Amino acid sequence: MTLHKGAPDNGRQLAGHPVNPFYGEADPVAGMAAAPPRHRLPDGPVAPHTAYQFVHDELMLDGNARLNLATFVTTWMEPQADVLMAECRDKNMIDKDEYPRTAELENRCVAMLADLWHAPDPAAAVGCSTTGSSEACMLAGMALKRRWTLGAPPGGSRGRNGDRYSGAARPNLVMGANVQVCWEKFCTFWEVEARQVPMEGDRYHLDAASAAGLCDENTIGVVAVLGSTFDGSYEPVAGICAALDDLQKRTGLDIPVHVDGASGAMIAPFLDPDLVWDFRLPRVASINTSGHKYGLVYPGVGWALWRDTDALPEELVFHVNYLGGDMPTFALNFSRPGAQVAAQYYTFLRLGRAGFRAVQQATRDVARSMAARIAELGDFRLLTHGDELPVFAFTTADDVTAFDVFDVSRRLKERGWLIPAYAFPPHREDLSVLRVVCRNGFSHDLADLFLADLERLLPELRAQPCPLGRPESVATAFHH
Ligand SMILES: *Cc1c(COP(=O)(O)O)cnc(C)c1O
Repeated sequence: MTLHKGAPDNGRQLAGHPVNPFYGEADPVAGMAAAPPRHRLPDGPVAPHTAYQFVHDELMLDGNARLNLATFVTTWMEPQADVLMAECRDKNMIDKDEYPRTAELENRCVAMLADLWHAPDPAAAVGCSTTGSSEACMLAGMALKRRWTLGAPPGGSRGRNGDRYSGAARPNLVMGANVQVCWEKFCTFWEVEARQVPMEGDRYHLDAASAAGLCDENTIGVVAVLGSTFDGSYEPVAGICAALDDLQKRTGLDIPVHVDGASGAMIAPFLDPDLVWDFRLPRVASINTSGHKYGLVYPGVGWALWRDTDALPEELVFHVNYLGGDMPTFALNFSRPGAQVAAQYYTFLRLGRAGFRAVQQATRDVARSMAARIAELGDFRLLTHGDELPVFAFTTADDVTAFDVFDVSRRLKERGWLIPAYAFPPHREDLSVLRVVCRNGFSHDLADLFLADLERLLPELRAQPCPLGRPESVATAFHH
């Protein structure tokens, strides 16, 4: 979570602002003359309706999630899903013995994903729910690191080398410079060198030759991203695996691949069935996805799957028995809400393959048509077209000098649209883009409204003497 500081000086006042007696239901009996302090636990209780009104009113100033084209995370579910989640909100995912049916739904979701991602032996695949892809990536990264420490990847030719930890060898993980921040976190938290392949020219993600070129005997794995957060493009997972096959032939190094399918693992199976990116590739050891992105569930659920138990060293799995039963678990947290898992199962059951295909296709159609219409305006150049993830990135056309992407982002915010503008990573820091993430619930109608607002702004932007400069607050929060 954001690392927050203690109370600011002006927040440490003993009592809050005076309260209008006609405001909400400020309780005259309790004699509340002032709002409760904001940065110190109030001295006593207030009535529930009063507390509700204060919190509710403050939250009104949050943005409108449906106009937020920055986030990948689900902002709309059906009322039935709301009911189900409300029914499950007191269930703790870890109490698998207390809530065996919730545990069973988690189990079925893992089996469905193993099947969807073509695990060669679905019964051998293992997996778990997590709080999101970040936790899933931490778990997958830990499994890679432990396999490297043990020195014997399945089928690999490396000998057992138990002293790797104590020796001078430092593990490294190979990835593109476009990875989501969770991989930098993994490498920092678990002391693994992040070997990043920079962007080059019009290549905005990892390529096979560069990935293989960075591998050595201390490489714990290669991360291939299915759906780059920067521009929505798919990385060439099969090509990366082929380059690593070739590397193995030449050097004997057997480097496993983890596919970060935070978004794409719930898009490609339905819209790009011929694209081979998953467990069909023997080198793919593990895959993660965010249930709360294109898995269409409200925030709080991700998934991590390993092709078989060889890919997930048994010593990382803990057996919990003090809540009753004996459940193998692999997680960073202990307690976790069960509602999201029930909602994920609901979504799988509700949509089935054909339903998912239809929803994701509709979202991709909106993204493609929006991208095409933005290209037609003439002021912009598309980097991607919304035809892989339903996400596209664009920048100003080469001859545009009056405004930049930060101006566009700032001006669209006046109309309520949240479109992040940000600079690309090494070596394309010179390139700044806008990114649009289409999600379920962002309709053709809303896209029309967005384009009308953009077109209305353009004459003013074109009339600027020069770009107005990059405000710090704009270039944030796109990593979602
Ligand atoms: C969103 C995202 C993540 C992090 O996922 P959370 O579910 O938000 O933790 C990791 N990798 C990629 C490629 C992503 O798009």
